[in-house]
Amino acid sequence: MTNKISPPALIGFVGLGNMGYPMAKCLVAAGYQLVVADLNTEAVEKFCTETGSSSAQNLQDLAAKSDVVITMLPEGNAVRQVLMSEDGIVSGLQQGTILIDMSSCSPVGTRKLAGELEELDFPLIDAPVSGGVYKAAEGGLSIMVGGEKAVVERCLPLLEVMGKPFLTGGPASGHAMKAMNNYLSAASLAIASEAVILGSKFGLNSEVMVDILNASTGRSNSTEHKFPTFILPGTFNSGFFIGLMAKDLRLARELAEAEGTSTDILKLVSTMWDKAEAELGFKADNTEVYKYLESQVKDGS
Ligand code: NAD
Repeated sequence: MTNKISPPALIGFVGLGNMGYPMAKCLVAAGYQLVVADLNTEAVEKFCTETGSSSAQNLQDLAAKSDVVITMLPEGNAVRQVLMSEDGIVSGLQQGTILIDMSSCSPVGTRKLAGELEELDFPLIDAPVSGGVYKAAEGGLSIMVGGEKAVVERCLPLLEVMGKPFLTGGPASGHAMKAMNNYLSAASLAIASEAVILGSKFGLNSEVMVDILNASTGRSNSTEHKFPTFILPGTFNSGFFIGLMAKDLRLARELAEAEGTSTDILKLVSTMWDKAEAELGFKADNTEVYKYLESQVKDGS
């Protein structure tokens, strides 16, 4: 298998949300042809008008036309439904078509799904991303790629349009890596928020605190990017729902449980994010965890 997936290959793209939309636009800009689908018909219409791409009549139609099918959906149940339901992608797929799931999904679920697809002779690559909406728009994501090496290598030109691919190993390893990354990302955002809230209570200026953290050992992506861009200005509009972050932590817990490990810090962080989601709603921005923690400090709870 040496033939690379290069322009003008036809890519079926399912999921034009906050991330999928700009990622798919990068593919069009690079010369790939796209046929797209999403439950949100407004997003599909807007994308096709802006880019001249075509909308799929249904998932079978999308599958039949595509050299590669990319899914960028909220989580694994949606991916399984789109791929495996009676009238889903697999029912219309031609032999040789490659499936790439770029959503953040359960590594345990993906291992099972990749096994089922392998029996049908359809290769599945898991290639979740990090970097958020602004990196997606500039094709600057970090992409964690798991799957059979020969198939992954065929897809590298396609993935490189959306960011920098890192090969993590066999099927589901990309999803495992992503779950661990977001565990760290969620924990550091929560801890940085609590630190800034506590310092402010003592009388420190929160902007000065963030400047000092960013010149000191406490810095992280949260203090360097999320605080100055979304939290301190009060915009809370990073484009990443709090419910998706809480989901990612549940995926990390699922991985830990599957490995029979004990993870006190992960349980604590995950439970806190679940409570924040319950309080603020799935579609609150993940940076609004700051507001949630502020209310906890006020309550003394
Ligand atoms: P989103 O909710 O904005 O987009 C998901 C899209 O999938 C929506 O347009 C929705 O209509 C569509 N959809 C859902 N179920 C569907 C189905 N059955 N058939 C067709 N379309 C369906 O989410 P997002 O922020 O774009 O995130 C997508 C994935 O990427 C998630 O797994 C998320 O955890 C991950 N992720 C998000 C970010 C971010 O900054 N937003 C960053 C990295 C990774």
